[in-house]
Amino acid sequence: MSFDYIIIGAGIAGITCAEEIANVLNKKVLLIDKRDHIGGNCYDYTNEEGTIIHKYGPHIIHTNSNRVYNYLSLFTLWNIYNHKVLYKVNDSLIPVPFNLISIDKCIPLHSNHIKDALLEEYEVNSKVPIKELRNSSNKYLKLLGDFIYDKIFLKDYEKLYGLKSEELDEFVDKMLPVEVSYDCRYYDDIHQVIPSHGYTNMFQNMLSNHDITIMLEKDYHEIIDIDYENKKIYYEGKEFRGHLIFTGMIDEFFNYRFGRLPYRSLILLNEDLDDVLFQDNATIYYPEEYHFRRITEFKYLTGQQTFYTTIQFEFPTEYDINNDEQNIPYYPVDLEKNRKIYEKYHELSQEYENITFIGRLAEYKYLRMDEVVEKVLDLVGEKFIGIDTEK
Ligand SMILES: Cc1cc2nc3c(=O)[nH]c(=O)nc-3n(C[C@H](O)[C@H](O)[C@H](O)COP(=O)(O)OP(=O)(O)OC[C@H]3O[C@@H](n4cnc5c(N)ncnc54)[C@H](O)[C@@H]3O)c2cc1C
Repeated sequence: MSFDYIIIGAGIAGITCAEEIANVLNKKVLLIDKRDHIGGNCYDYTNEEGTIIHKYGPHIIHTNSNRVYNYLSLFTLWNIYNHKVLYKVNDSLIPVPFNLISIDKCIPLHSNHIKDALLEEYEVNSKVPIKELRNSSNKYLKLLGDFIYDKIFLKDYEKLYGLKSEELDEFVDKMLPVEVSYDCRYYDDIHQVIPSHGYTNMFQNMLSNHDITIMLEKDYHEIIDIDYENKKIYYEGKEFRGHLIFTGMIDEFFNYRFGRLPYRSLILLNEDLDDVLFQDNATIYYPEEYHFRRITEFKYLTGQQTFYTTIQFEFPTEYDINNDEQNIPYYPVDLEKNRKIYEKYHELSQEYENITFIGRLAEYKYLRMDEVVEKVLDLVGEKFIGIDTEK
């Protein structure tokens, strides 16, 4: 069978590409993944107790893009779900992003001064970056910034990235800002949803076109060769003249010639419990104690009513390609020195006209699902419509 496009990786990036190429461009697609399922890190399944489990950690679609929401709505019904997150700090459970309630709970001694200072300086509902608070000349705002930095995010990021505190300064811009409000929702996007029948069901609907062939449990190296010198692609020994879309690790694609891009991995442990509920909230973080980073209870996400519950512990760990428990690259370690390595790979990738690199591994960037979908829709609209795969 011949294909116009070959896509490596059946995560949300590869699946959205396959859907658009088959349904909009009417072309034939081969979609390959080394795992035994579609969906990449967004894959979910129903366990024996009937609970929908997000195998690779909790996933919520939150977006301000009507385009992405309307597009995905073609393939699923939605459960509206407003995610809430608590952090256990000083024996209290604190809403994060940090808001006026969190200040009362965490810093009761100075909370009135801090709230007065915040409301004097900023408008209600504004979001104040942690960096700005830490640099403030107002001693109460500085106290707030330093507290959140030291007690919450620094410890959480130390666990997540396994870095020392001095190496984490670069992450300060990524820390969630303080919200001058009583809104305890984790996100404030217009659309906050989870597919009613799960992500895998949504992906199956996206891939229902007969022009999409899916090949699972197949590492692309088994069937695809790249002639780097002449920039040619070979599929099962024959030259492939169509277009290749690569959503795997860009450093792996180029045989690590500029060095390995560092990642963090996760060990995820699920526990089924004979209780109706385990905790008071979908996700609780433990920055100060335990080796795990957070516990998620799936029933909150799926809205399922059962007599049992399933919780998931997340243990951040080294990424190790040779260790079956730690060989999934979850989080790019977004430090400047690593981005410089990525830039070299990116520059090289631009020399390959018949290969497109897209998705979180190919772009070495933490991308949300909606960002990935938006990028693919742009790509198909701007680039692929003009491509002649019959040459
Ligand atoms: C713990 C966690 C929680 C998250 N929560 C959210 C959330 O709530 N909301 C949100 O919007 N985003 C969330 N994300 C981000 C979300 O997971 C990503 O946006 C999404 O997975 C990116 O999809 P992708 O297709 O680019 O990559 P992936 O899902 O990683 O897919 C890449 C695929 O390529 C395959 N592959 C790689 N190498 C090869 C090879 N050599 N041969 C064949 N196949 C290969 C892999 O097996 C994989 O299936 C979360 C991420 C993590 C880590």
